[in-house]
Amino acid sequence: MRPWRGATAALLVALAGWAAAAPPCAVDDRVTAVDPDTHPERIVLDTAWRLPAGYAPSDLVPVSRAGFASELLLRAIVIDDLAALRSAAESDGVRLAVQSAYRSEAYQDTVHQGWARQLGAERAAEVSARPGHSEHQLGTAVDLRSADGPPAWELDDWATTPEGAWVAERAERFGFVISYPRDGRAVTCYDYEPWHLRWVGREAAAAAAASGLAYRAWLYLHHPPLEATAP
Ligand SMILES: [Zn+2]
Repeated sequence: MRPWRGATAALLVALAGWAAAAPPCAVDDRVTAVDPDTHPERIVLDTAWRLPAGYAPSDLVPVSRAGFASELLLRAIVIDDLAALRSAAESDGVRLAVQSAYRSEAYQDTVHQGWARQLGAERAAEVSARPGHSEHQLGTAVDLRSADGPPAWELDDWATTPEGAWVAERAERFGFVISYPRDGRAVTCYDYEPWHLRWVGREAAAAAAASGLAYRAWLYLHHPPLEATAP
């Protein structure tokens, strides 16, 4: 078991705060009423809340536009901040690469089934979103890795590498949140993923960071999810 660094009273209070701010992680298929095209940063996507069936963003562009050697796709609205993050990292001698970016609902189904075959359905639900529930379907979430490293989930803790530590320290300045922080599963619904960044814009990222809350908990407080009415 990984040692629990900084297990102080302050951290315990913070964890209690997280728990209070978001409801438990129920399994459901409630469709968000928030328009993902205009407010992707306001959408709760967890084990209960999902995107409208088949949603796909209309402004996907390759991450090569942010200077990465990859043709994986993200929404155009993410590119400027992602480019700024990449170039600031490079100035500090930190070389990042994109491992995964936009994933369609159909592709997420394949990904999730792959994990379920490998780990069993129960464990797969803790490491991978069901189709419709993934932040990757928004086109604003990106999985990073070290440019010379393996996929970050193959490491014990990518945040202990120079690249992962750089990202953990600075992602928020560029408008990204780490959706699934360490020891947060009761609140975030998923295992720790230091490599998974969700673009929410600099304003929301700064507000969430200042609150000390995991982003799911911050969203439940500030943009509580509303269910779409059936057509
Ligand atoms: Zn991810």
